[in-house]
Amino acid sequence: MERFKFKSAEEGVGMSEGEVPAKLPEGGKIWFNGRFVDWKDAKVHVLSHGLHYGTGVFEGIRCYSTDKGSFIFRLREHVDRLFRSAKLYGIRIPYSQDEICTAIKETIRINGLDECYIRPIVFYGFHHLGVMPTGCPVECVIAAWKWGAYLGEESLRSGIKCTFSSWHRIHPNTLPTTAKACGHYLNSLLAASEARKKGYDEAIMLDCEGFVAEGPGENIFIVKDGKLLTPDFSSGILPGITRDTVIQLAKDIGIAVEEKRITKSEVLSADEAFFTGTAAEITPIREIDGIIIGNGEVGEITREIQRKFFDVVHAKESKYMKWLEPV
Ligand code: PMP
Repeated sequence: MERFKFKSAEEGVGMSEGEVPAKLPEGGKIWFNGRFVDWKDAKVHVLSHGLHYGTGVFEGIRCYSTDKGSFIFRLREHVDRLFRSAKLYGIRIPYSQDEICTAIKETIRINGLDECYIRPIVFYGFHHLGVMPTGCPVECVIAAWKWGAYLGEESLRSGIKCTFSSWHRIHPNTLPTTAKACGHYLNSLLAASEARKKGYDEAIMLDCEGFVAEGPGENIFIVKDGKLLTPDFSSGILPGITRDTVIQLAKDIGIAVEEKRITKSEVLSADEAFFTGTAAEITPIREIDGIIIGNGEVGEITREIQRKFFDVVHAKESKYMKWLEPV
């Protein structure tokens, strides 16, 4: 049975067997509609609205272990984005932002985690299956588990190989791209799986007009002549919290940042390029479609931003302690 599952995943999205990621740890507690339940009891019905139509919103948040204790990185901003995503789909979260923040901290504590990835998700549950979710309950779940580097430790050190995807990023007039919504990730899945099938580590998606947008789960930055450039919101990108972090850190270091429409050729002729994201953190890009970016090494500015980012999340920069929420 396990074997069959892996085979179908391979055929479906082109993962090689070696790439099958480890299963999530089974055990511990999951916060489910206001109370903690055992991992095995955190279940919903197969006729849940969210399962059929992708009607849910979620977050990905990291908690880092530091020598000053465990801290959640930019918790308030993540919870705020969760509520803004929900609002765009008319989902009324039956808790306050403060209650969700408290529940997230409790989830980390009850599971005895010092460093983890946190996944709050809010979706329509079971009632009926018309497209309109009228009457469907809003289910709220928070889970947390240990999750290392999203694209592997080596990717953070040496960078990754990307390809421009033939799948374009969803257009802001098709779906509200600023929402981190479940259904939007079908678009990400297609781009990511196409890239993996072709032997690349990750995809870069263009917007519907052909400008560079972002990765399936990452924002993108390039460095040109000592300046940072990143796509603006007109390309339908998710307003990444790591992206915002990098913009603020770069400005503080004295590196100019410009948010604008970016062409494929600007990326290919960049001195450096990197992805940002809660899961991907700061992942250098060393090659795109066989073209070496810069000299193929992790660039100086990328390294500096990466170092600063990891110092900040590990509570080594007093100026940015405001971004760290103690568990
Ligand atoms: N774009 C997409 C499509 C994403 O899923 C993510 C991950 N949340 C990002 C960008 C990066 O956002 P953040 O830095 O807030 O994790």
